[in-house]
Amino acid sequence: MAANKEFALLCLENPLLDIQAQGDENLLKKYGLKSNDAILASPEHIPIYEDLLNNYSAILIAGGGAQNTARGAQYMLPPNSVVYLGGVGDDKYAAILHDAVKKAGLRVEYRVDPKEPTGRCGVVITGHDRSMVTDLAAANHYDLDHLKSPEVWKLVEGAEVYFVGGYHLTVCPPAAMALAEEAAKNNKTFVFSLSAPFIPQFFKDPLDATAPYWDYVIGNETEALSYAESHGLGTKDIKEIAKALAALPKANGKRDRVAIITQGTEPTIVATKGEISEYKVHAIDASQINDTTGAGDAFAAGFTAGLVAGKSLAQCVDQGQWLAKLSIQELGPSAVNINAGT
Ligand code: ADP
Ligand code: MG
Ligand code: MG
Repeated sequence: MAANKEFALLCLENPLLDIQAQGDENLLKKYGLKSNDAILASPEHIPIYEDLLNNYSAILIAGGGAQNTARGAQYMLPPNSVVYLGGVGDDKYAAILHDAVKKAGLRVEYRVDPKEPTGRCGVVITGHDRSMVTDLAAANHYDLDHLKSPEVWKLVEGAEVYFVGGYHLTVCPPAAMALAEEAAKNNKTFVFSLSAPFIPQFFKDPLDATAPYWDYVIGNETEALSYAESHGLGTKDIKEIAKALAALPKANGKRDRVAIITQGTEPTIVATKGEISEYKVHAIDASQINDTTGAGDAFAAGFTAGLVAGKSLAQCVDQGQWLAKLSIQELGPSAVNINAGT
């Protein structure tokens, strides 16, 4: 039974420290940010991190999309079920990440860069919106050498399910492809997250290279729309987009692809074999919502933990929505109270 296998789930992406604060229009304007967006930092954005810490009482929270997913999945599974890979620096920020993942019982195998600092994600909250600006730094130096090193590759060979966050396509597409191909070759499960609208838009080629390997592709409505536009699907209908994602050519013919599109409080759309299912989200009173950052990461965590435990598709979706609901009641993108806030 997969659930009892040690480190059955292996996740790859960019470990980041979130520097999160309540902002305002002026702050967004100062750095040219949209209120609801996720971007990579340009040089003019770099001062925002100190600005947030010094002038906006920012808190530090362990982040990074797939690292949140990995923590959440470990929360749902027996001990020693999940391992996470990515690149960090040799600094106090990495120490905070180590502390947070340890509390979650998540095993990490970080590539430690001797020169670059740990990556940071500035999270500016204005009302119900959040704007994220990421300086990848050490995370950007993840490489195939780390993945293929004997100790790490042994974990790859031992895992049954791989989860790759789309953000990693800006870093090391060959690492994503190595996991994708390993999954297809051994009929293991490859789960991919679209991560952000800019991935389908600006990283179309590496994205399309991974597409044939997706057994499960997970995204939200804005990512689905960005995919449709950048790929000329000629529709803004989320169900049609989900169907199109599910119907893309597939490397491993032994598994039917499933496309899962979440839409905040609107029903989750699931497409497979030309069929659409809709799943209502778990309702929660607005007063109980603390922070919706990472709702999608938590959904992916619950969903993927379900796959690892051999649950049905409907159960996996339900478990994803359950964990997302739990997560948005906490501060920061964590499924449980495992923040490293200061
Ligand atoms: P992302 O964080 O990637 O934008 P979504 O906003 O689509 O992802 O949220 C993912 C899932 O989180 C939803 O499908 C739902 O299950 C849950 N969720 C998000 N916001 C709410 C909410 N306000 N109430 C209840 N569930 C929510
Ligand atoms: Mg959303
Ligand atoms: Mg998301």
